[in-house]
Amino acid sequence: PYSLGAAVSDYDARRAKWLRANPRFPAFVAPGRPRVLVVTGSPPRRCGNADGDHLLLRAFKNKVDYCRVHGFDVFYSNAVLDAELSGFWTKLPILRALMLAHPETEFLWWADSDVVFTDMLFEPPWGKYAEHNLVIPGWHEKVYVAKSWLGINAGSFIIRNCRWSLDLLDAWARMGPRGPVRDRYGKVLGKALSDRASYEADDQSALVYLLVTQRGRWGGKTFLESSYSLHGFWVEIVDRYEEMRRRHRTTPVAGGERWPLVTHFVGCKPCGGQYASYDAARCRHGMERALNFADDQILRLYGFEHESLNTTAVRRVQNDTGGPLDEEIGRLLHPAFRAG
Ligand code: UDP
Ligand code: MN
Repeated sequence: PYSLGAAVSDYDARRAKWLRANPRFPAFVAPGRPRVLVVTGSPPRRCGNADGDHLLLRAFKNKVDYCRVHGFDVFYSNAVLDAELSGFWTKLPILRALMLAHPETEFLWWADSDVVFTDMLFEPPWGKYAEHNLVIPGWHEKVYVAKSWLGINAGSFIIRNCRWSLDLLDAWARMGPRGPVRDRYGKVLGKALSDRASYEADDQSALVYLLVTQRGRWGGKTFLESSYSLHGFWVEIVDRYEEMRRRHRTTPVAGGERWPLVTHFVGCKPCGGQYASYDAARCRHGMERALNFADDQILRLYGFEHESLNTTAVRRVQNDTGGPLDEEIGRLLHPAFRAG
């Protein structure tokens, strides 16, 4: 059968050896702080609609902003590394290649191009995942009981750099080769899952299938995260940003997210493509608002904000005093892990 690459039975030992030999590239940059690489990508060609590439640029700027605040690395792929794994399947060979090339990276965080980070200060609770290798938005009951392909979302997930993950990527990718294999697995998924027709296999359904049919092999190390919005469905979020901002300005929340960490424009296909499931104007307006809402959290650090979430125009909200910014903002721009 198809395989993503060579088997790596001694990978964990090889990675450990590399880490010992390269102490200046530790997998944990501070106690409890894993080294994280955010990975995203878009098709090699320009978008099918006029606005698409501009939206991709803004969505990438959003990821760069989020990564800078948290000290994460970021990788943008414009290549389909394996022609067999085209479309959304292409994230699997990218993750494998980056894992092997970056043994210093503890966690890789896949974020779809249509994922917008909307709580710029929230950081995943890393300590909670010490015993897990895959953290994916999902619900136990929807996956294991209902066997629903919507029991998880594969647009934003965190995966540890280890042998288990390489094995998972390989098992997962076997259902992805385009053409007859992808079609055949589409029928298998249609039968095994409760709410999916038999169209060609998609990566999200394939992962639910692995969890359901080989739970002993994969379930134990997979954390289905629903305590915050590792993925948040845009339709339920984009009209409420002003309200969320008003509410939380006066009531800070300790630890948890103030509002959805991620607003994911599932089904919008902002780069074009014939399978969009929602009205394009509604998607476009929602993206504008999500991007401006996120950007305001960054701009405020520098004394500016958007006049409203519906416009690109900005205004100054803090006087330029000619000196360093006030202390609270200064602390956000100078977290301890950045100190030299
Ligand atoms: N993608 C990619 N290269 C490609 C095609 C897709 O990197 O050639 C990525 C891109 O980040 C995209 C993701 O695959 O966001 C999944 O597709 P999409 O977001 O359209 O699916 P949806 O979330 O709507 O189900
Ligand atoms: Mn998506």
